[in-house]
Amino acid sequence: MLDGCIIGAEALLRWRHPELGMVSPAEFIPIAESSGQILPIGEWGLRSAVRQWKHWLDGGLGPRAVAVNISAVQFKHPRLTELVMQILDEEKLAPQHLELELTEGVAMDDPLGAIAVMDSLHQRGIRMSIDDFGTGYSSLSYLKRFKVYKLKIDQSFVRDITEGPEDKAIVGAIISLASNLGMQTIAEGVETAGQVAFLRAKGCDEVQGYYFSKPLPVEQFEAFVREHRELA
Ligand code: CA
Ligand code: CA
Repeated sequence: MLDGCIIGAEALLRWRHPELGMVSPAEFIPIAESSGQILPIGEWGLRSAVRQWKHWLDGGLGPRAVAVNISAVQFKHPRLTELVMQILDEEKLAPQHLELELTEGVAMDDPLGAIAVMDSLHQRGIRMSIDDFGTGYSSLSYLKRFKVYKLKIDQSFVRDITEGPEDKAIVGAIISLASNLGMQTIAEGVETAGQVAFLRAKGCDEVQGYYFSKPLPVEQFEAFVREHRELA
């Protein structure tokens, strides 16, 4: 939100373990990726996010779109497009309400493979964004071929934009690069009014971060959206 409107949410995984308590995704995702468990976990996460969004839209509550993170293993799976389409179909959510986030590192690991998958998702009306942009060694010659509609500016650049001239320059350059390529930008990890003001002045389309809200469980997010709507 840059004008204060909630335009969507990013779905995040948390694991509440009966003995260990909350286990951070930074701990369990790498293990799930190496064991292959990430496929069922990712499918469950995608379906849960889609189903919840559909429920909110039906109740007149859901903002525009929910963003779901796709792991390297999921992205390389040959049936990814079919799986996404099947879940949207079964849960009866139109593709424009879903965004898939792929990190820049994964996209650049196999750019030609990524282009093929992006083309196939794009043809079916599913939008993709490049996550953690600026940290994954993007080749500009591939970036222009990626069918993505949004770059997510990594929080490491956003953190110091009100102080560091380098980060100011980098974030400004990413925003104009994206805009010239016909892509939108969202800044991640926004925590202060000063950062929002800088991003707005540079023409960044969207922002997310603790300045607006920490990650919330389902019931609290619903209350947050309702409250915001009443204030708007
Ligand atoms: Ca993400
Ligand atoms: Ca990110």
